Amino acid sequence: MAIERTFSIIKPDAVAKNNIGAIYNRFETAGLKIIASKMVHLSQEQAEGFYAEHSERPFFGALVAFMTSGPIMVQTLEGENAVLAHREILGATNPADAAPGTIRADFAESIDENAAHGSDSVASAEREVAYFFSAEELCPRTR
Ligand code: UDP
Repeated sequence: MAIERTFSIIKPDAVAKNNIGAIYNRFETAGLKIIASKMVHLSQEQAEGFYAEHSERPFFGALVAFMTSGPIMVQTLEGENAVLAHREILGATNPADAAPGTIRADFAESIDENAAHGSDSVASAEREVAYFFSAEELCPRTR
């Protein structure tokens, strides 16, 4: 299996509920290694740019308002089949549909405040990692 990198956000709702550590624990338990991490408070422009592919969707304005409502944690995760492995522990977009034991089932309240983000493909992951992290900020594990 391929070692991949993927991009993760702990969204403002989960940061506000003090669930950063609990969600990091899910990554580590799943064998995903955090190779870069920081807290940021997105500007309107940063949030619009990150979610540009959704700019024509009816929920876009609310999504940008939510994502700028408080600080977030952004992470690069590395591991075997990391993109899919991360999406599996994240659960469905709507927490009402998310499998029991997934991050969204356990930490999210609604589809528009759904606790966390995960890249949906290797190509998206590359774009999203580069949106937040320089090459120097990525710290592959050497031991
Ligand atoms: N979203 C929303 N309402 C919807 C669909 C999506 O607020 O009806 C938000 C939600 O926060 C979701 C994000 O838009 O995580 C991106 O949507 P996508 O379909 O890409 O879902 P994801 O990949 O995050 O599961």
